[in-house]
Amino acid sequence: MKKFSADKIYKGLGAPLEESILITDDNGKILSIDKMENHDPSTVQKFKGALIPGFINTHCHLELSHMKGVADTGTGLIPFINCVVTQRDFPKEEIQAAIMAAEKEMYENGIVAVGDISNVTDSFECKGKSKMKFYTFLEMFDMFQAENALGEFNKYLSVFEKLEVQNGDKKAIVPHAPYSVSESLFDLIQKATPNGNTTISIHNQETPPEMELFQKGTGGFADWYKSWNLNLDSFTVTEKNSIHYALGKLNPNNRTLFVHNTLTNEDDLKTALDWSKNTFWASCPNANLYIENRLPNYKFFIDAKAKVTLGTDSLTSNWQLSILEEMKTINRFQSYIPFETLLQWASINGAEALGFDDELGSFEVGKTPGINLLENFDGQLSDKTNVQRIM
Ligand SMILES: [Zn+2]
Repeated sequence: MKKFSADKIYKGLGAPLEESILITDDNGKILSIDKMENHDPSTVQKFKGALIPGFINTHCHLELSHMKGVADTGTGLIPFINCVVTQRDFPKEEIQAAIMAAEKEMYENGIVAVGDISNVTDSFECKGKSKMKFYTFLEMFDMFQAENALGEFNKYLSVFEKLEVQNGDKKAIVPHAPYSVSESLFDLIQKATPNGNTTISIHNQETPPEMELFQKGTGGFADWYKSWNLNLDSFTVTEKNSIHYALGKLNPNNRTLFVHNTLTNEDDLKTALDWSKNTFWASCPNANLYIENRLPNYKFFIDAKAKVTLGTDSLTSNWQLSILEEMKTINRFQSYIPFETLLQWASINGAEALGFDDELGSFEVGKTPGINLLENFDGQLSDKTNVQRIM
């Protein structure tokens, strides 16, 4: 049995506890949360700062870790994609070494579970050995070449089948983004996915050209398709924002994790929340600044009571893999958001989005959520705040 205390204990939801202790078994399973006065202080490990549950990183691409620093910052999504697709040839050893280093970095930064996108098998071996939990999203796209939808589906399905999940890990096949998946491929994915208790991750409303493509059929993405000699015959202009196309093709009985949402507005949120209460909104603020040099308006999400989660995205579009750094960035640019709210996004909301909330995401009796210590923290995040993993 272990007893931990600190100036404040945040359970993941709500106001912090003071003069309290967390009691766990040797594996970190929470046995009880009690008042300090009931315990002999010499039996308690007392820390300066705050104890918080392990972080949930709901969006990463481990397999892109080797491309750190390759793409320029602030160029926008389309030049970023061009950079990534034209520079994927790296030696296998380099890719594996970068994946292992990235996994270690996340673990040391207090992350306990990851929603991770895979297109290929590169990250599977590392995930099998990791002490973190993984929800692998095997991501499919056909760039609106509907005649290739079945071929692409089968290609990615064979990758998906190579992933053996263990230790409570999970996996699902998912569509990449509204601007890259034909109706035929959406239908194939949905047919092959369980009806309920599955998380479907999809990139969403990340860049103005994505919106213009669906609104008018013109703009940067329309030009991009032409530049790669890809016809848009099976694409239909909806005259609505891109998320509406995705909503029409996804299953409201599953958990849907919309990723980025940089341009999502109040109407989009209302439509999505009316469609399903099982919607989650993964924000990757540092990646948004890296790629597009803009952030979502978080007030829309708070006012709509949308469940926001946090993600790091990959090292291709971030300087590090740390949920604490994502929280600090939001705090720097939209400081009206209380720390308790940011922590909820970083912990319990993420655990719910990935269906890991029976074990992770909050300090509750029976869970083994991981225990992080925030140092140089007095109830407000600052540049100096750092995280140490205790359990
Ligand atoms: Zn991504």
